[in-house]
Amino acid sequence: EAKGRGRNTFHFFDQAMNNRALRRLDIAVALRHAIAQDQLELYYQPKVDTRSGAIVGAEALVRWRRPGEGIIPPGDFIPQAEESDLIVAVGEWVMRRACAQVLSWRQQGFGDIPVAVNLSPRHFQRERDIDRIIALVEEAGIPPSLIEIEVTESTVMRDPDLAIALLWRLRDHGFGIAIDDFGSGYSNLSYLRRLPIRTLKIDRAFVADIDQGKDGAEIVRAIIAMANALGLGLVAEGVETEAQLRFLRDADCAVAQGYYFSRPLPVAEFEPLLRPSEPPVFAARPILARPL
Ligand code: C2E
Ligand code: MG
Ligand code: MG
Ligand code: MG
Repeated sequence: EAKGRGRNTFHFFDQAMNNRALRRLDIAVALRHAIAQDQLELYYQPKVDTRSGAIVGAEALVRWRRPGEGIIPPGDFIPQAEESDLIVAVGEWVMRRACAQVLSWRQQGFGDIPVAVNLSPRHFQRERDIDRIIALVEEAGIPPSLIEIEVTESTVMRDPDLAIALLWRLRDHGFGIAIDDFGSGYSNLSYLRRLPIRTLKIDRAFVADIDQGKDGAEIVRAIIAMANALGLGLVAEGVETEAQLRFLRDADCAVAQGYYFSRPLPVAEFEPLLRPSEPPVFAARPILARPL
């Protein structure tokens, strides 16, 4: 009886694994097709000045509009794409589209809106993949300083020397570099000095803890103090409440991003936020409407 169940269990796992492998293959094939067919889309989430409520930039976040299945969030296909070079193709598509958008906003008179683009660790395993990023931004004709490349700490883990060299190459071409989800991974603070970082993005898990009476507030304060001491820019991710925003502003975190201001939006919904406005677009949020 126990033996029989064991065999069935084994058989069950065997089949589940098979299905998973097939599903992965299926996603990889479909995603390759999606890139060719332009089924990917970029959504934009504003980055907001915590004192004025003005939009200071946007993060480009990829979505997959799959015919018959609707919008697929990145968490459902980026991990699969990261298992192969497919993620490099996704990164190039995203960068090309983001550059075209920056150019379009310029031409429409919205001015220069800095856009952040996420690149996966695999993009930093071959020189030529980063050289292609540099080349395609140059071809697009926008200043690389308007593109901020977001990488997580894991990007530096596998082959630190190569990754650090390639980050410097990007920086030397004028790109901004941000560390995404800062504090969530295995942080090696000694790398921080070796990296050409412009901005730290505080992981939203810490931001979520700010008003939970845990150590979250103290950790956030420490990250802000460190960034300010090192002359790094700061963005708090995942800001959802007025209390979080008040804390961050009072603790001298200059920029915030999160549902409190806006979810990531399709470009048609994001663009109206860029219209010049006085007071600034998010100034009416309760905490910002009150003087300091
Ligand atoms: P990320 O780069 O850390 O992006 C922030 C994620 O947090 C986004 O999820 C965003 O929608 C979500 N978020 C923003 N504000 C809030 C908030 O107030 N509360 C909560 N709960 N969540 C918030 P999204 O768009 O689903 O992206 C998830 C992850 O997928 C990204 O995390 C990034 O790691 C990856 N990703 C997205 N686009 C790309 C891309 O173009 N290339 C690569 N390589 N990865 C991407
Ligand atoms: Mg990001
Ligand atoms: Mg993040
Ligand atoms: Mg992330």
